[in-house]
Amino acid sequence: MAHRQTAAESLEDVWIPTACDMCYNVCTVRVHRVNGVAVKIEGIPEAPPNYGKVCAKGNAGLMNLYSPSRILKPLLRTNPEKGIGVEPKWKEISWHEAMDLLVERLRAARLKDPRSLVAATFDRCSYFPLRAFMAAFGSPNATNTSAGFFCGNGVHPVAFTLTGSNDVHPDLKHCNYLLIFGSSHGFVAQQNAMGLAREMAEARTRGMKLVVIDPVCSYAASKADEWIAIRPGTDTAFALSLMNVLVNELGRYDAPYLKMYTNAIYLVRPDGHYLRDPRSGAPLVWDALNGRAGALAGVEPMNAALEGSFKLEGIEAKPAFELFKDHLRTYTPERASEITTIPAQTIRRVAREFVEAARLGSTIRIEGHDFPFRPAAACWYRGISAHKHGMLNGMSIAQLNLMIGAVDVPGGLINAAAAGPNWLPKEGPDGLLVPGNPFTNTHLAPVPARKVKPPESLELVELFPVSVYARTMLWLGVLYPEKFGLTYGPEVFIQCRTNLMATSGDPEVMAEALKRVPFMVSFSDQHNETTEFADLLLPDAHALERLVPVVFNPYIHYNNAPLPEDEWCFNFQQPVVKPMGQARYWMEVLLEAAERLGIQSDLYTAFNATAHLTGANRLDPAQKSSWEEICDRWLKSYCGEEHGLSYFRAHGYCKLGKRTAEQSYPRLFHKGRIPLYLEHFVGAGEEVKKFTEEHNIPWDTSDYIPLTEWRPCPAQTESPAEYDLFVVNHKMPFLTLSITSENPWLVELAQHNAKVFPVAINVATAKRKGIAEGDEIEMETPGGKKFRALARLTEGIHPECLAVPSILGRWVTANDHARGRGVHFNSLLEYTVDRLDTLSAALDACVKVKVRRLGAQLSHKLPY
Ligand code: SF4
Repeated sequence: MAHRQTAAESLEDVWIPTACDMCYNVCTVRVHRVNGVAVKIEGIPEAPPNYGKVCAKGNAGLMNLYSPSRILKPLLRTNPEKGIGVEPKWKEISWHEAMDLLVERLRAARLKDPRSLVAATFDRCSYFPLRAFMAAFGSPNATNTSAGFFCGNGVHPVAFTLTGSNDVHPDLKHCNYLLIFGSSHGFVAQQNAMGLAREMAEARTRGMKLVVIDPVCSYAASKADEWIAIRPGTDTAFALSLMNVLVNELGRYDAPYLKMYTNAIYLVRPDGHYLRDPRSGAPLVWDALNGRAGALAGVEPMNAALEGSFKLEGIEAKPAFELFKDHLRTYTPERASEITTIPAQTIRRVAREFVEAARLGSTIRIEGHDFPFRPAAACWYRGISAHKHGMLNGMSIAQLNLMIGAVDVPGGLINAAAAGPNWLPKEGPDGLLVPGNPFTNTHLAPVPARKVKPPESLELVELFPVSVYARTMLWLGVLYPEKFGLTYGPEVFIQCRTNLMATSGDPEVMAEALKRVPFMVSFSDQHNETTEFADLLLPDAHALERLVPVVFNPYIHYNNAPLPEDEWCFNFQQPVVKPMGQARYWMEVLLEAAERLGIQSDLYTAFNATAHLTGANRLDPAQKSSWEEICDRWLKSYCGEEHGLSYFRAHGYCKLGKRTAEQSYPRLFHKGRIPLYLEHFVGAGEEVKKFTEEHNIPWDTSDYIPLTEWRPCPAQTESPAEYDLFVVNHKMPFLTLSITSENPWLVELAQHNAKVFPVAINVATAKRKGIAEGDEIEMETPGGKKFRALARLTEGIHPECLAVPSILGRWVTANDHARGRGVHFNSLLEYTVDRLDTLSAALDACVKVKVRRLGAQLSHKLPY
């Protein structure tokens, strides 16, 4: 302990409400403090979203707080050389010296080009002040790096397209049949981890059938009714084949839903674009009742044709659904079986079960409204998103839900509407659904497609008109600015709470990119793989040492959206203990820097806008406010005058009423249509192609197609035959985010779990290769990257795969039990433009290796 106990503290025994910060779900917790020492973390039974429950990671938060390896003082690098494994040769300096240096470098960068400041964090609680700082500075380059490489690229733009919200999840309150593709949804993973785990458990108890499609028998699969082992990167073929069975073999799909709520009825020309009304430009549909074409607004949707072919002024036009249906025919279960390795009879059976569970035509009455009742859904996440064609993969699962009319209705796949009680999607250009969320400012809306422009941001998001971000591009932009027409590079890089060396692309490439940054300042409580590159390393406050309001913010964070029938709730973080050593909350440091740079008033103006402060709670740009005053105004602005800082200090959270059925299932209450046929991709692709060709930017635009297709990843088509096994990365629920992979309690838990540190291999595959349980093996990629690990034989993996979990193989950590243990999956990947999904900027995590047995069975000597 760094500070001496006072007399008051020695009599102390209190519980302090605050929020967990061991993952981005910021569950509401209370911390037991005895004599000035935090001794226990637990949930608050009545507080959303976790209602008294805390996961293993949350419990282990104390170990990060009291880690003996905490960084306690500002440190200055004295070794000009940088690289993986290069000792920075830190020298302790005072905060005074550190601030002088930081402000001097920021001032110089701003004079040169304000855009040359880059900031990266996954501290979602600090996004609003950080974005205000960056806006005041004049830089568009705020990013969260790692998560944008792999995670939601094939999820968020698709969720926007379906529902106008950042994310989607199955309505576990009503769903009776759930297909999970490559995700551990509901098993303490992803967004709203604790709330969805509770709902999943209740749904299973209620009798919901769970089918998990995954190359690995993951936690979710191990608890499922059925695990379907699939070849990696082929989920789209499976989904398209399921739809083919529904539409072309069984003839069972929700035609009224498609007519009422999608663009399936829009007429499409042979060139792939909509046939439009020559006067208004509106898409035309075929009025089957009156035998004529008409503009969308003038035709009763239920009279519009879904199928057929119509000649209009010499042009042969077809409803989008006719094209979709015809396209599906190529995905017979037999062909899909060859692609996926799933037997054709299984594909037909699952399709039948799915549509039978969907109860087409049925309704349910909730809160006085009669909703379509579709208790079947398909969901997905990183597993199918982190591929070369990740966005098409996500779209195909989304469309599976559309076939049964199960989007934004009870029982189906519903929006995670982190947008407040007054939110509803809207009808945008061409009658398509656009977000109605006034708080969406960290993700861009993908519909309508944005105009392609010369790149302004280092992320080059201007070249991704149907994505929500392009975070993966940032470091490629830093490495190759001239290739993308960038006229500037980074001068200063601010980094906090994102270990991008361990969690982004290939560390060798990341290292080269970081070496290009003249000045890097890291805020951290621990030394790690990324702080190794910093020029200035500042001690960051732990979550239990800092004051941050509105961390659980259902107006913006989709993982904080209340579940149906749950309550709109806000929470906050407050200091439970005094900061260790000289640690400071990094955002307060940046506010001080802003004042010294003379941009404080601009920051306040930007903060009023980004945080949506209202009325008398808006910050006065002409007057300095303390951090506590800012927090008080922020809380009151969201939760009402009676719920300011003093209220939150006492209670920790504030509930603002139940999420209504209309908010949970908004499909009946707005007119925006969902694009089943991706016509907006066609024009966007044409624009990207034109721009990149004109500027000599090598760019693949072939995925800008209106009908979703399965396309193999490069690993499948380019790997020589001896590289015959895929390596699959999967998540352990207690090891998500890199801070967990060095936490002593969690590492100890990992040591007792045989699935963490070894590489899993199928029993039959191992036998064929002469590998026994515990043998040491070597994996090698076609690019020559090699890794050694112990083999764990299991039936719970596809025969063509090896499995490595989470972010392991750490090389800079004070925890001796974590260093070098397990495989660092990202080191196997190629981080190059041709391994990116040019629709969503997902980095392709599909990799094949050849495997060699190195040595005799070692399991008797080496514990897992
Ligand atoms: S899910 Fe995340 S926020 Fe909630 S208790 Fe676990 S680690 Fe903490």
